[in-house]
Amino acid sequence: MVLADLGRRINGAFAQLSRVPVIDDKALDALLKEVASALLESDVNVKLVANLRSKVKAKVKAAIESGADKGKDINRKNIIQKAIFDELVLLVDPGVEPYKPKKNHPNVIMAVGLQGNGKTTTCTKLAVYWQKRGLKSCIVCADTFRAGAFDQTRQSATKAKIPYFGSYTETDPVSIAAQGVMKFKKEKFEVIIVDTSGRHKQESELFQEMVQIGEAVKPDMTVLVLDASIGQAAEAQAKAFKESADFGAIIVTKMDGHAKGGGAISAVAATKTPIIFLGVGEHLYDLDKFSPEPFISKLLG
Ligand code: GDP
Repeated sequence: MVLADLGRRINGAFAQLSRVPVIDDKALDALLKEVASALLESDVNVKLVANLRSKVKAKVKAAIESGADKGKDINRKNIIQKAIFDELVLLVDPGVEPYKPKKNHPNVIMAVGLQGNGKTTTCTKLAVYWQKRGLKSCIVCADTFRAGAFDQTRQSATKAKIPYFGSYTETDPVSIAAQGVMKFKKEKFEVIIVDTSGRHKQESELFQEMVQIGEAVKPDMTVLVLDASIGQAAEAQAKAFKESADFGAIIVTKMDGHAKGGGAISAVAATKTPIIFLGVGEHLYDLDKFSPEPFISKLLG
């Protein structure tokens, strides 16, 4: 189920609640069952869903026992809706503040993620985003593994009028990353985005390379680029990257497509890392800033 449908289904369950004669335990259970199955069909992790269900139940019970509903169904309905809203926000909010690039500082941002997840596209989008907000931005292409990676960076960076660094001849990604970051630091760039390789196979080598690049460029923030369309696999992928790259933020791409998105949401909880942006298309400006509460409001809007 795509996220828009998830919102519609939860809203449908709320509407159903208004139609029942009395809002009692049975009505609450029926609502929670519907919300839970909608979340599961959107690929949200089963444990997270079970947890949400029991927390909403406990909150509603405590509120009713304290007399907050004043014995009225309408108040009870609001209490239930608010409890579900709050728990949905918590699903996408690990309570950790992501790093924010600072003016007059060479902020190094390293992007990691598997090939095809949209890393290179996202690096250009990020550079454009920060450039527009007054931070002098650039890109270093440290992907020497995929033939054509540097060409892709060159093309998209040129289109976006973003300075870039890379090499057709140098084969050591650590050396390219170090050279590029050093050059741009000297030139007083404020956001230096390092795009790394995302090879699919040879995972241990990929992770080793990421660690080495990290040691060479000392990123202020490492960002995991995660494709929403991989569904439940997002959680395991995020965990594996967290162990070696220890990223501080997540960007979920391809949210414009038919992705369920719940898998990526579960990745937040599994790694206790905030989502900072959503990729919502193939174009340079198709990047939405992510904040938990507005996201859930919009989902249910
Ligand atoms: P990389 O291998 O991780 O560097 O991935 P690329 O940046 O080359 O992207 C792979 C494909 O996904 C390309 O066709 C991109 O245009 C596409 N892509 C990246 N981000 C998005 C997004 O947010 N939405 C959509 N629809 N496509 C995207």
